[in-house]
Amino acid sequence: MNWPQDPPAQLWSQLSRERFSAPALHEDSEADAVVIGGGIAGLATALALLERGCRTILLEAAMVGAGASGRANGQVIGTLTRHGPEAIAQTLGQPFLDLVAGSADVLFGLVDRFGIDCDAVRKGWLQPAHSPGRAARAKALAAAWVHAGAPAEPLDQDQITAAIGAPGYFGGWLHRGGGHINPYAFTLGLARGVAAEGVRIHERSPALRLDRQGDHWRITTPDGQVRTHYVAVATGAYGGRLWPELARSIVPVTSYQAATEPLGPLADRILPGDHAFSDTRQDLRYMRKDREGRLVSGGALATQVGAATRLPALVRRRLALLFPEIVSRPMPHFWSGRIAMTVDRLPHLHRGDGLAAFVGCNGRGLALCCAMGGVLADAALGAPEHQLVLPPRPVSPLPFYGLVASTARMILPYYRWKDWAEVPPL
Ligand SMILES: Cc1cc2nc3c(=O)[nH]c(=O)nc-3n(C[C@H](O)[C@H](O)[C@H](O)COP(=O)(O)OP(=O)(O)OC[C@H]3O[C@@H](n4cnc5c(N)ncnc54)[C@H](O)[C@@H]3O)c2cc1C
Repeated sequence: MNWPQDPPAQLWSQLSRERFSAPALHEDSEADAVVIGGGIAGLATALALLERGCRTILLEAAMVGAGASGRANGQVIGTLTRHGPEAIAQTLGQPFLDLVAGSADVLFGLVDRFGIDCDAVRKGWLQPAHSPGRAARAKALAAAWVHAGAPAEPLDQDQITAAIGAPGYFGGWLHRGGGHINPYAFTLGLARGVAAEGVRIHERSPALRLDRQGDHWRITTPDGQVRTHYVAVATGAYGGRLWPELARSIVPVTSYQAATEPLGPLADRILPGDHAFSDTRQDLRYMRKDREGRLVSGGALATQVGAATRLPALVRRRLALLFPEIVSRPMPHFWSGRIAMTVDRLPHLHRGDGLAAFVGCNGRGLALCCAMGGVLADAALGAPEHQLVLPPRPVSPLPFYGLVASTARMILPYYRWKDWAEVPPL
């Protein structure tokens, strides 16, 4: 069993006014299309399949939002993690660059369409530069995103200091199309909207087997089966035995989150423009505020031992470099989730025989998964390759997978050294 066993982020569920629940599958059913996975990618795909005329069933192993979608920091970012616009266009083509550039619009469009109550704030996403060299690159990156049609602007050192509410960065850029949401509430609201449109959702219904029978697929869950023409797999970093080669094509990396208590007047001085913030370090530093003035941040650890105390302490130390008052503030909220990393840091689309899958958001998937719904639906339905916005590729399990997966976190000290080597830490 690889699907989430623990409840999603308690802070996000506590703050969520969206509610959603759906019955388990207890019968034999038929559908034109089945989506496996009830995160944002699966829900967006189910909506797209419905809009393409398919009677659609979505199977979720645990509860909607139990995976990364309900555990994220909630930053809406219309870019990829590593590749800038030119590199995206070169490697995956102009149509995919256009999709990425418009992905935050798609997410906020879904918020409006379904009236999703997820504390959506669209005031922009900041990327502060942690070194002078990164500040120069940030300027070029902002220009490249403007060229790609995104509402981006470079920020000099004074502007970034004002936007953060504290000195410590050398410049950066602002993507005005970004923002932040309660990702769990967004996922539940999306499920509510998608179900109201006609998608049949079943929670606590893990797809245990996927069998090709003639021109159909048969999907087996603990208490039922579905016969269908088309299958879209959107299990992110939580896929497992159902499609072992797919699971072994990504590295599932645990990411930890921590949040302060409401900060009162101090919250007004931190990120006064209410932007989302993730910097240019490889060992990323990031934060955003929630609607009650908590600061929600997170990070990675090389080893998991004692994570529940070590990670909040690390986050508090880092935040205190910018805002010294944070040092004495408790961090009562802690949770973690899994990120689907690919070796080339690009998202991957796979398909064949009425079956398609999308994996590899590399930690920046909230907006991307919304925009990818139509692409995964088209891939499952057998659209010709030139019509697919993301070129499909064969599933390539990583060699020495067990070793790679268990040692991936060990790269963290190297990342920290590289960040430090660019400029001594704050
Ligand atoms: C801690 C953390 C912080 C993050 N912060 C951000 C952020 O600020 N901004 C951003 O853009 N991205 C962020 N991300 C990444 C983002 O959350 C993900 O890219 C995105 O949510 C992935 O959505 P998904 O639908 O592909 O996967 P998931 O949301 O993980 O959904 C997959 C679902 O598949 C289900 N499943 C698995 N196997 C089966 C099966 N056999 N049958 C049925 N169902 C199955 C699982 O139960 C799960 O619910 C973060 C991720 C984490 C973990």
